[in-house]
Amino acid sequence: MGAVKKDLHVAIIGAGMGGLAAALALAKQGFTHIEVYEHASNLGFVGAGIQLAPNMARILDRLGCWSPIEAEATDIKETKIFQGDTEVELAHIALPHIRETYGYAHMVGHRSNLAGSIYESCKAKKASISFFFATAASEIVSFGPKPSFTATPRKGGAPYTVTADVILAADGIKSVVRPQIMRELGVDADVEDTGQAAYRIMLKREDMAHDPELIALLDADRVTRWIGQRKHIIAYPVANKNVYNLSTAHPDTSFAAAPSATYTTKGSKSSMLDMYADFCPRVLKMLNLVPDGEVCEWKLRVHQPLPTWVHGSVALVGDACHPTLPHLNQGAAQAIEDAAVLSVVLAKCPSASAEDINKSLRVYEAVRKERATVLVGLAAASGKALHLGEGEAKKERDRQFAALKDKKGGSVPDKWADADVQKMIYGHDCMKVAEDEFYDIFKSF
Ligand SMILES: Cc1cc2nc3c(=O)[nH]c(=O)nc-3n(C[C@H](O)[C@H](O)[C@H](O)COP(=O)(O)OP(=O)(O)OC[C@H]3O[C@@H](n4cnc5c(N)ncnc54)[C@H](O)[C@@H]3O)c2cc1C
Repeated sequence: MGAVKKDLHVAIIGAGMGGLAAALALAKQGFTHIEVYEHASNLGFVGAGIQLAPNMARILDRLGCWSPIEAEATDIKETKIFQGDTEVELAHIALPHIRETYGYAHMVGHRSNLAGSIYESCKAKKASISFFFATAASEIVSFGPKPSFTATPRKGGAPYTVTADVILAADGIKSVVRPQIMRELGVDADVEDTGQAAYRIMLKREDMAHDPELIALLDADRVTRWIGQRKHIIAYPVANKNVYNLSTAHPDTSFAAAPSATYTTKGSKSSMLDMYADFCPRVLKMLNLVPDGEVCEWKLRVHQPLPTWVHGSVALVGDACHPTLPHLNQGAAQAIEDAAVLSVVLAKCPSASAEDINKSLRVYEAVRKERATVLVGLAAASGKALHLGEGEAKKERDRQFAALKDKKGGSVPDKWADADVQKMIYGHDCMKVAEDEFYDIFKSF
């Protein structure tokens, strides 16, 4: 096939995990005209921990931004699952083999360090990547042959039209582009409420230092869950073990009472304490340490699988096309896989014609969509298993957990810790698949 066009103008909507990674991955492939339009005036809300799975680390390492992330992340050696109210240990799963098997450990870190390191690497490519913060994309004016959208500076100034060769909409779960594509296709689809919300909490070492039981949590190389009916808490140390990160999932009462367009809200500490009142003293000690006014709550939403991620020369990326519940720790990793694959298929796109661009974007969809859809389903299934109330299903789940403790093996109901699931998720090199399969898939269209 013909020459690769590295001077394609790629406009990216959203500087979240998918948008930042797409900009960097494209610049690494040699693209020189990349623009990123971000609604927020900076990198936005990043005050939380995040699990950094080997499939994410592999890509970030190739992009040259993994070492500063790894330097302050925690290398997870085990996971423990406790019954939330009694703190009876349900499962203990050692994870010593991950680095040897997949080339990268399963680490956990600070979101701001992850986003910040990708952003710093983007800034080092400033000849190729331009950022437009405080600029909101709204209407897609054209899906091709030269796709365009309306950009509105949020601090004043007239809306203007951005025309590019390719538009990548990495604008998150609240995507403005996704519904426009669905309307073009005559598909009636919207985000779905899960009835669940999440508190995200960060406790500082100095606030836990007085209590040996708490500091032991911060000093362990472990992901810990406390689970109960329809709710759980997951926690792990980040920022060189100076911060203990807790993230919860529980029935959504705040958003049901007061809907929020941003899906995030200042949560109430007393509601949080009420929600987990039946959990064990160790958890309650931690929740009580959260300063008043620093409870942040996120609404958890999902979307049915979309019929397509691509229309004309516009493609959806990350949560915009496959929002994934947090229970598998793969949402950001999957957005980064999207970005990496997009960089490969656009680098291999034989010409700048709208037809070749569309076909290349469809190769991206062919490589990515089935895998992302499977992971969305696994995350939902994991949440369901973790949140079981009394009954036969819970007895069976706890029997499976107990078998793991007794080293009898078997499948792990907390799916991210299951060896077969890890093999499927961590063992997959999406960039290699895109490299190897591009021409065959491209020619099939
Ligand atoms: C509680 C919780 C815990 C999680 N834990 C993990 C984890 O451990 N590991 C993991 O891999 N994933 C995790 N995730 C998932 C992960 O955070 C998301 O999947 C990931 O952030 C998606 O990246 P994205 O770039 O697609 O979207 P986002 O990160 O949401 O970025 C979208 C960006 O687009 C911008 N934007 C939106 N609309 C516009 C517009 N109109 N114009 C311009 N800009 C716009 C937004 O301001 C934002 O910056 C978790 C999620 C939650 C809720």
